[in-house]
Amino acid sequence: HSKRIGGDRIDVYKPAMRARKNDRLTLESELRRSIERQEITILYQPIVRLEDRSIAGFEALARWDHPKLGRMSPNEFITIAEEIGLIVDLGTFVLDQTARQLSVWQRATRLREPIFASVNVSSRQLLRHDLIHDIRSVLARSSVARGSLKIELTESLVMENPEHAAQMLTRIRELGVGLSIDDFGTGHSSLAYLQRFPFDTLKIDQSFVRTTARGTRPVILKSIIALAHDLGMDVVAEGAESDSDAVELYQLGCEYAQGYVFGEPMDADAAMRLLTEERLEAAS
Ligand code: C2E
Ligand code: MG
Ligand code: MG
Ligand code: MG
Repeated sequence: HSKRIGGDRIDVYKPAMRARKNDRLTLESELRRSIERQEITILYQPIVRLEDRSIAGFEALARWDHPKLGRMSPNEFITIAEEIGLIVDLGTFVLDQTARQLSVWQRATRLREPIFASVNVSSRQLLRHDLIHDIRSVLARSSVARGSLKIELTESLVMENPEHAAQMLTRIRELGVGLSIDDFGTGHSSLAYLQRFPFDTLKIDQSFVRTTARGTRPVILKSIIALAHDLGMDVVAEGAESDSDAVELYQLGCEYAQGYVFGEPMDADAAMRLLTEERLEAAS
């Protein structure tokens, strides 16, 4: 019963295309229900101070536990969530959960410098939705220490309307929320962003940090760190995988790092155990 529009060639490709389209549609409708079905989990990865390797905060990283396909990484579902307009609900969920978790950690640790938590925000949340309103209500509900909630921003989409984005980001800062530029050095996050937007933290992309980049690595890292410091920003290096990465980053003047050498993304309970162990260690 298939319509013959362009001859045999089309018929040959049709079944495969239809199958793929079907999978995609199924995945979309499953993703739409993932939040209410409690299939979205948030893992937390420690961000440490290189000076003494104490935990400064955690980055929240979303996972989707698909009933059949198993645990999916955000690279597999964030883009779909953006395309079907679900990213706003998903983003609000991650923000809300993380803020609640953060206030639990803060009450349990009572450090002089409170633990922070950093949430990835898609630029679509920023441009197509009242993120300010969301952040305000999340802050009102969770009683986290001022300045201890941060958002991380990567994508180039904000450059579609830089004036609007700059205004929004300034208002976010005024709420006492930190602002990190994520994956710095990749195509998405460039120098133009630093000029236009009020970031307080720069996260160096892992491609500059991982040991594979030997040779030119120290030169590039040193320049990025100096640039960030000259602009008054803190620096977090992503993807520190070995002890020598951590040592080198510290010697280059980087203050924070995140990576497998300090801990992989873990569930909230494991993060809490890590924090309490550390506190006991510090007290003894
Ligand atoms: P990102 O924000 O740059 O997060 C860092 C990614 O690097 C995470 O991948 C983390 O698991 C991974 N990573 C950390 N340390 C190491 C290391 O030492 N070596 C290596 N090879 N990798 C390391 P993940 O969790 O798969 O997240 C991928 C990206 O998805 C994130 O990149 C972020 O852009 C996005 N994402 C994650 N959660 C959310 C979310 O809730 N909302 C939005 N909009 N995006 C999210
Ligand atoms: Mg990030
Ligand atoms: Mg990153
Ligand atoms: Mg990334």
